Amino acid sequence: MKLYLAFTFATAISVSAFAQQTPQSIADAELPSLVTIYKDLHTHPELSGHEERSSAIVAKELKAAGYEVTDHVGKYDKPGWTGFGVIGVMKNGDGPVVAVRTDLDGLPVHEETGVPYASTVTTKNDLGQEVSVMHACGHDIHMSTFIGTARALAKLKDKWHGTLILIGQPAEEAVGGARALLKDGLYTRWPKPNYVLGLHDDAEIATGQIGVTEGYCYANVDSVDVSVKGTGGHGAYPHKTKDPVVLAAEIINGWQTIASRETNPHDDVVVTVGSIHGGTKHNIISDEVKMQLTVRTYKKEVRDTVLAAIERIAKGCAMAAGLPPDKMPEVKVRKDEFTPATYNNPELTKRVTAVLKTAIGNDNVIPKDPTMGGEDFAEYSLPDHSIPAFMFNVGAVDPAKIAESKKPGAAPLPSLHSSKFAPVFEPTIRTGIIGMTSAVLDLMKK
Ligand SMILES: [Zn+2]
Ligand SMILES: [Zn+2]
Repeated sequence: MKLYLAFTFATAISVSAFAQQTPQSIADAELPSLVTIYKDLHTHPELSGHEERSSAIVAKELKAAGYEVTDHVGKYDKPGWTGFGVIGVMKNGDGPVVAVRTDLDGLPVHEETGVPYASTVTTKNDLGQEVSVMHACGHDIHMSTFIGTARALAKLKDKWHGTLILIGQPAEEAVGGARALLKDGLYTRWPKPNYVLGLHDDAEIATGQIGVTEGYCYANVDSVDVSVKGTGGHGAYPHKTKDPVVLAAEIINGWQTIASRETNPHDDVVVTVGSIHGGTKHNIISDEVKMQLTVRTYKKEVRDTVLAAIERIAKGCAMAAGLPPDKMPEVKVRKDEFTPATYNNPELTKRVTAVLKTAIGNDNVIPKDPTMGGEDFAEYSLPDHSIPAFMFNVGAVDPAKIAESKKPGAAPLPSLHSSKFAPVFEPTIRTGIIGMTSAVLDLMKK
């Protein structure tokens, strides 16, 4: 009799302890260990394509949380790059397949945050130059949140069914990591997801809040190389030359009419000439001017129009300058560097937004404007957006600092990629775990 009572008592305790677990309570319990992981990751950032240590930490933590883990996933075209992708899988009966993604890489930035766990890492980049490395985009926040979410969903296994796929993606900053995973069989070696979720920390939103954007949120990113040819000569005898510097200037002005005159004013377009180089000396007219452009759009048809216009205007200006056909400008769209636009599936966005509001409070979920930035998270929904995907933005800024930055004459807040970007890690990781865990639980609920 005594034994029986003791048994029921113990069972009752363990059942009630289990029943009390929520994304919130698990996030709170796991936070101290995740902060240790965060600081360690922050102190040891790695460049794109070289995320060996970070990927090993993520793999180890997913294994410890009970996931079936495969590491060294990812196939690149770039020589010298190893696939450091990590895929963790938890099968929990029949049901939907949901994928959650984190990125792993840091940036060639010299940290100036002054925090005690700041990075002092230097390394050689792919060009052999010595560079400092920093988690200036907060991918360390993403990894810590991801590990916390993995632990939470393992602990809440009785509340969901289906297959959960956790994706540790390398090389987001250099672009190509998501594509490398897909090329290595992400959707064939593992089940193809019904939904894909991701998050990014946000350098403008207060910690504790989440920003959501429905529809397009990040742009198509194209890198374009343009070589403008001319016939060089003495700077004092322009009539004996075809000056590619003057021609390049005309072409650049011509490109400004793409967004203002060619595309629908309701379609967003950016054409930026980020680099221009020509000539060697004051009094020499050069033979060539080289330019590097970044071109940002959302819709495919707009992208096609803009890229065609860039080439047409360059060639038209060259023709007007009297250059022969063999000296037409060369316009090369760098296919290897293309990032597709990220499109937050409207139905999925609405569904998850409602879940986030319940999880962290109505007022803490705020609308966020789309940007013309780029994110290769887009790759997971495939070019036709046939896999619904949603990425939300987790605020990472002290609200007092936001208020301060709005005062007249105040310095703006450090942006993502700034050497001074220091997210408020504890509440940001906590909010990220609660948001992501709640979203997955809803998509996979029994
Ligand atoms: Zn970044
Ligand atoms: Zn980032």
